[in-house]
Amino acid sequence: MNTPHYIGGHWVAGEGTDILSVFDPSRAHPFTELRAASVGQVDQAVNAARQALPAWKASATGERAGYLRGFAESISRRREALIDVQMRNNGKPRHEAEIDIDDAIATFGYYAHLAEGLADQQNRPVALAAPGFSAHTRLEAIGVVGLIVPWNFPLVTSAWKIAPALAAGCTVVLKPSEVTPLIEQTYGHIADELDLPAGVLNIVGGKATVGGALSTHAGLDKLSFTGSNTVGSQVMHSAADHCRPVTLELGGKSAIIVFDDCDVDQAIEWIIAGICWNAGQMCSATSRLLVQNGIAGALLPRLAEAMKKMRVGNPLTEEVEMGPLSSDAQWRKVGEYFAIAQEENLNCLAGGTTLDRQGWFVAPTLYVDVPTDSRLWVEEIFGPVLCARRFDSEAEAIALANDSRFGLVATVASADLQRAERIAEALEVGHVWINSIQAVFVETSWGGTKGSGIGRELGPWGLASYQSVKHVTRCLG
Ligand code: NAD
Repeated sequence: MNTPHYIGGHWVAGEGTDILSVFDPSRAHPFTELRAASVGQVDQAVNAARQALPAWKASATGERAGYLRGFAESISRRREALIDVQMRNNGKPRHEAEIDIDDAIATFGYYAHLAEGLADQQNRPVALAAPGFSAHTRLEAIGVVGLIVPWNFPLVTSAWKIAPALAAGCTVVLKPSEVTPLIEQTYGHIADELDLPAGVLNIVGGKATVGGALSTHAGLDKLSFTGSNTVGSQVMHSAADHCRPVTLELGGKSAIIVFDDCDVDQAIEWIIAGICWNAGQMCSATSRLLVQNGIAGALLPRLAEAMKKMRVGNPLTEEVEMGPLSSDAQWRKVGEYFAIAQEENLNCLAGGTTLDRQGWFVAPTLYVDVPTDSRLWVEEIFGPVLCARRFDSEAEAIALANDSRFGLVATVASADLQRAERIAEALEVGHVWINSIQAVFVETSWGGTKGSGIGRELGPWGLASYQSVKHVTRCLG
């Protein structure tokens, strides 16, 4: 704990001024603390990544794949410890923490596989219509990349960035969230264990000062950011100052559309998973429920009952379906939305309150017939707060769903698969689930349209975002 930052292959003490208190949100109590990195240490980390770049970029893709498989195996070996820290520091129920581990393992395994295939894709000839020339394509590492991540799925979000970046031949500096500064240290310990060349992976923890020092650093070739729109916009400004690429994974206010022909119980399961998983602290939370008039009368009261019955509690001591919110700031923010809902006289069928007990708990909440100009309908809350509206026609559902400044994901629930596909086509988002919980597979892309961000992670698109395309054209004459 005294040396929490990983720079150039060494664990070092923080030299920053901020002390990061690490909380157990179920008790609203810190269980450890650490000193943040300094701006100078961010500089050292970027320099270490710069020094390591030429050799890593030139390394055999099979060698890089070997390291990535090593990461997957080492995460697997640390499974219990990683589940524990996520329950303790994020407040995740055990089954959710387990899924995060599986996701991180799958991500490293998948990019190991893609790295192995990279050699075959190198120097591919390009068919030219013009005679007398030949050309071929090279896919090269973009260089040194800064990775800034939030706290809601820390192990997973970091894996989605580290694995493709290393596969592509980039070296990285990771800045974990100040709310969850422990779990990603695991990646440094694994790098040590695997003898990953020094400087290929660097980890510097801290608050906005550290994030700002990284995102404005002149020594980066790219920045990949996941977090809020406010900070994302600042990160994009710094990228513009340096004329360098940026990937932004930002907020959402996604819709789940439920048609008359659905099985009510099944629909309720998808709706609750879309808003109560991770206590609603998901960029992809389907926080706007659009329910067709013919089923609304049967569905909404049963949904409210199911939300009221949810077991909310401390995942370390109880069998729970939903844990606390991960931070005091988030708990206060959700509480403010409950107050706004009261001011707006919203019709609350379940919850609408923080829970009167130790820890940052709130009740799973359902507001119905929410006006489209309500702040709760429009703004990202990042908690288990669902706003519902009824609709009649397919066209009305599409218009309501698309009427948002965000465009991350959506869910469509209907027995009519042709209709569901039609709706999926019409939605202005990056990912649509049909009759499903939010299952995320490494082979499919992740990212949004409109205010939800720029670029895609996962799948081959995730790898491509860390590659630079070069063409070599030769005159044959
Ligand atoms: P945040 O923007 O406050 O923080 C994200 C990261 O940025 C943290 O590491 C933070 O320390 C750092 N940071 C803060 N100020 C900075 C600055 N000035 N310069 C550089 N870095 C800075 O977001 P959060 O509260 O940690 O996360 C919640 C947000 O993240 C929500 O809006 C959520 O929708 C979004 N999110 C999006 C996705 C996605 O894939 N689209 C996934 C998860 C979370």
